Amino acid sequence: QPIIQAEQLEKVYRSGKVEVKALQSASFTVERGEFVSIVGPSGSGKSTLFYLLGGLTQATSGRIVIDGVDFATLNDAERTKMRKSKIGFVFQKFNLLPTLTARQNIDIAYSISGRTEPLDEAHLRNLTDMLGISDRLDHRPSELSGGQQQRVAIARALVTQPAIILADEPTGNLDTASSDAVLEMLQRSNRDYKQTVLMITHNPEAASIADRILHMRDGRITGVEAGAGRVIHS
Ligand code: ADP
Ligand code: ADP
Repeated sequence: QPIIQAEQLEKVYRSGKVEVKALQSASFTVERGEFVSIVGPSGSGKSTLFYLLGGLTQATSGRIVIDGVDFATLNDAERTKMRKSKIGFVFQKFNLLPTLTARQNIDIAYSISGRTEPLDEAHLRNLTDMLGISDRLDHRPSELSGGQQQRVAIARALVTQPAIILADEPTGNLDTASSDAVLEMLQRSNRDYKQTVLMITHNPEAASIADRILHMRDGRITGVEAGAGRVIHS
């Protein structure tokens, strides 16, 4: 059974008399342990899809099944719980809490995830070492470069070892070295920790590291191709 199933998703944004169909009959599945990229031009519905899959907004129609659970059968609280326990989010704009240190940003994500066991220091150390930010943990986001902030955001997303990692333009604002580090970490999460990764990007080169690439245009999935599964070395 696929870990993500999207069936005939439609999302209409309305403001007054203006209607925008951001998604139209978008259907696809992602297998457990797969790395899938979604590429498409600006305005093609990628972020809308990301928010729907993350349970952050509701579809106008259609069905989303995550790990065998149909979103439609969950109330808001249950959907939030599912999101916090199963999904790690990475955003283009990092979305770190500005008044907290890197370490506190990571800790907070862990404590709201519903995990009952305390955060394993060795796991955190391992994760931040892999990302090259172990010596930056006492700094606030404003004291970190964009690339370092995104690495903290990746640590925050991965610290709970989520089954699914949803990344929306994770390399959008980064220089090449940071971008490669982020892609390498996503790839490692997928290969070594069997996490399912769904990455949205408009960068074809970044997209090519996936097992499979879905193309979007005008709110629809218009094509599927095999990715190179290219290995990134930073
Ligand atoms: P992408 O991520 O591929 O750039 P989006 O999902 O952001 O695409 O947008 C798809 C379409 O939906 C665009 O036409 C966009 O203008 C519109 N849209 C996105 N969010 C909203 C919103 N909150 N209200 C109205 N229209 C929106
Ligand atoms: P709740 O539904 O409990 O208020 P939150 O909105 O705090 O949940 O978000 C839960 C998780 O989803 C957090 O890890 C947060 O990073 C992410 N998230 C939710 N909505 C957004 C958003 N609009 N922008 C950035 N991150 C978001």
